[in-house]
Amino acid sequence: MTNVYPHIIIPPPGPKARAIIEKDQLYNSPSYTRAYPLVVDHAEDVFVWDVDGNRYLDFTSGVAVLNTGHCHPDVVHAVQKQATQFLHMAGTDFYYPLLADLAEKLAHLPGEGRWKVFFTNSGTESIEAALKLARYSTRKTDFIAFYGAFHGRTLGSLSLTASKAVHHAGFHPTVGRVFHAPYPNVHTCPIHTNGEDCVTETVHFIEHHILNQATSPDNVAALFVEPIQGEGGYIFPPSSFLPALRELTRKYDILLVVDEIQTGMGRTGKMFAYQHTGIQPDIICVAKGIASGLPLGAMIARDDIMTWPVGAHANTFGGNPVACASALATLDLLENGLMKNAEERGRDLLEKLGRLKEKFTVLTRVEGLGLMVGVELSRNGNPFEPAHELRDALVHACFKKGLLLLGCGKSTIRFIPPLTVARDHIDACVDIFERCLGDLMREVNVQ
Ligand code: PLP
Repeated sequence: MTNVYPHIIIPPPGPKARAIIEKDQLYNSPSYTRAYPLVVDHAEDVFVWDVDGNRYLDFTSGVAVLNTGHCHPDVVHAVQKQATQFLHMAGTDFYYPLLADLAEKLAHLPGEGRWKVFFTNSGTESIEAALKLARYSTRKTDFIAFYGAFHGRTLGSLSLTASKAVHHAGFHPTVGRVFHAPYPNVHTCPIHTNGEDCVTETVHFIEHHILNQATSPDNVAALFVEPIQGEGGYIFPPSSFLPALRELTRKYDILLVVDEIQTGMGRTGKMFAYQHTGIQPDIICVAKGIASGLPLGAMIARDDIMTWPVGAHANTFGGNPVACASALATLDLLENGLMKNAEERGRDLLEKLGRLKEKFTVLTRVEGLGLMVGVELSRNGNPFEPAHELRDALVHACFKKGLLLLGCGKSTIRFIPPLTVARDHIDACVDIFERCLGDLMREVNVQ
């Protein structure tokens, strides 16, 4: 059996990695957000090897993309087979079987009702498509989104995004009028009694301040929401949140768009995170995990909404046949074991990390659903004092020990391994994380 622990033979970045980073920095955009100097050579399932021969345990999944693990043999086989058949033919202009097969599959995922699919190449493009379809089908102009939201970085999706100032600085004006409401974070909600009160506050804010004061329901085309905030810090709202938004948007004839780009494709133990709540949205945006690493996204909408005419919206690469082949193999794997594994291993991971919370007061929040788990670090055990430097130092220390993690929000660390992860990998991950945290706490002496 492969040792489930990472294997660091040379402190990263080693000499080969350093040479590549030097070249990269000369020619690549300085806007990229590399948390640590990992230079990938190859990868398999939950492991990544760098160019100097170090082996890492990957609890990032390439930012929630590799839900089937790195290079799953079924995915690789489907990709290779399609690559010898044809690489591209522009689904917007021509027909091919894979595009119809994948659309059929995706259109049945929401369950009830009839749905149609528009294919894209990325998350932001799925959001752009939803923005345009919402405007087209309602003939209204305004949108509602949430503070802490991340929906992408192109100008339309950026108008909705409100998780970090750096995403906006220097890029205004963005597109149209977007009104933001507070996302119900039970840990920082001004009303501390229970989660339901946060939801009531949010709904009240939207109804009274946005719909009655800042704009009006006659102007608002759609409300965009992440069922769990991702880049904003892995914020898990109370279970009444989406049902309350569904009721509110129905009342005012506003479309409800769920952004499942990070939460979707089985990550939380169901195909889409909103499916834990019993609601039915109007539009679903997906990308990331849909094709196990090939660039693909989709905007899935109720068919009575997707009524735009020929030529209204299209792209060259959306629904590329190789990406579609990968997505069909991915869906098969998710439905035949991986979603279930996400649910079961997610419970293990949450329980193990939860135990650390009792030991380290700096861990003020350990929350998760399936294999989407967030751990927040705060100074003095106070959730209003995010310990972001400590968080960054911890992510870096784990990297040095061969465990790949990523931050999000101000001071959260996210644990998002491939859905193929086994219990032993989780034990190894939590063991390394605990040791690194223990070492750091001794160093800063604030435990
Ligand atoms: N929406 C959510 C919830 C995301 O997490 C992301 C990316 O992190 C996006 C949209 C944008 O996706 P992309 O980076 O593929 O444009």
